[in-house]
Amino acid sequence: MNYKVNIGLEVHIELNTKNKMFCMCKSSFGDEENTNVCPICLAQPGALPIPNKEAISLAIKTGIATNCKINNKVVFDRKNYFYKDLPKGYQITQFYNPICTNGYINLENKKINIREIHIEEDAGKVGKNNIIDYNRAGIPLLELVTMPDFENSEEVIEFLKLLREILLFCNISDCKIQEGSMRVDINLSVRKENMPLGNRVELKNIGSFKSIKNAINYEIKRHINLLENGDNINIETRRFDEDNNITIFMRNKENIEDYCYFKDPDIIPINLSYDFINKIAKNMPILPSEKRILYKTKYNLNINDINALLSTPKINKLFEDLVYLNNNPKEIANLISGELFKIINENNLDIENINFNNIYISNLINMFLNNKISRDTYKNVFFEIIVNNIEPINFIEKNNLYIICDINLIENMVIEIIKQNQKSVNDYKSGKEKAFKYLIGQCMKSFGGKCDINIIKTLLLKYIN
Ligand code: ADP
Ligand code: MG
Ligand code: ZN
Repeated sequence: MNYKVNIGLEVHIELNTKNKMFCMCKSSFGDEENTNVCPICLAQPGALPIPNKEAISLAIKTGIATNCKINNKVVFDRKNYFYKDLPKGYQITQFYNPICTNGYINLENKKINIREIHIEEDAGKVGKNNIIDYNRAGIPLLELVTMPDFENSEEVIEFLKLLREILLFCNISDCKIQEGSMRVDINLSVRKENMPLGNRVELKNIGSFKSIKNAINYEIKRHINLLENGDNINIETRRFDEDNNITIFMRNKENIEDYCYFKDPDIIPINLSYDFINKIAKNMPILPSEKRILYKTKYNLNINDINALLSTPKINKLFEDLVYLNNNPKEIANLISGELFKIINENNLDIENINFNNIYISNLINMFLNNKISRDTYKNVFFEIIVNNIEPINFIEKNNLYIICDINLIENMVIEIIKQNQKSVNDYKSGKEKAFKYLIGQCMKSFGGKCDINIIKTLLLKYIN
């Protein structure tokens, strides 16, 4: 039997505004409990909410970047429910009139439709020792809801990465899944081909892209097993157990909860002027999707390089600065996607917390491309710039790292190395490639890596034969 999977996402995104959604409290993560609170976000009687213009602008920016229609009337509604982290007894949201509707994001091979993006406020958080922390209460959120267009976990991850890219590059949110500034709920159902959508399960509170992928794959298998056995799928909410790689029942989605939505009488609807929206549209940065096309068509870069170059705005700026200065996109893309990522991963560095001068890197690339230093030196000095921000021209001068060009000198050394390593030479002659690598290594070592490896290879072959 052939089964079809449908997945729809509800993504909550914390906006990086200075202030909360309806008051002037600081909107930040990690401060001491209940230090960013006031009568408005604590819901004291008589306190009135005032919508945050910056948050509305960011919502519009998100809508434009995701091809949505922008609603020029901003209206807020109350979603009524009782929970201890919700001071007012209701959450202010946009139920009837979301600010953005009918958008989409294009994956590599598929279009994912976005039903709506609306603005709401976050709730507080039950923290350590059961203290309720209201610092988060009132922080502006976007909720983005897709159509159930995804058919597998790969598409979901691709979408989330593209969405994250948009939000980072447009400076809308810092999108840290671990800190909760991007939270994803997954709705999933399985049906037989040509049948209407099946009963759906909601997967909540998943803490990483990897877990999202594993949870979806687990859930698809579980549904298919049930259907194969002729069992019903229960409409329910489940969570993902990362340790055991399984999803676990949380609660039934009993008859739809009644939130008694109604328009918030405390907030006067806002009519956005054409100029206000247009000004945001005109000031949009170049979108990552446009950069992707440029990198592919103009620079001829492959998808792995492109992904690396768009992994964070800082890395992307480094790339674009260097392309501007050195005009060699291929070499620069290689350096970043290969060498830079290797250094970051091997040394456990956080790219946001290290400071290096992009011009230093540009100077270094120039020296390499002009044959002033060997590839070994290039890599070593690049490491020094990334980790210690050393200035390369002086460093190379002071440590005498210029490439050795004296062919006679190199030739003599190669002959000497061959003499001293007869066993390896014989091993190589009898077919052991490894021995040749060893000989190259010995030559490079005797020149402190300051030699062109291709010259060494050529000379070695010449004198061995
Ligand atoms: P709720 O009111 O429970 O949040 P919504 O209608 O807002 O439900 O839908 C929430 C998400 O669930 C959307 O992303 C939607 O695409 C998705 N969804 C709805 N029905 C299904 C289904 N049968 N299978 C998979 N996803 C679904
Ligand atoms: Mg919903
Ligand atoms: Zn406040």
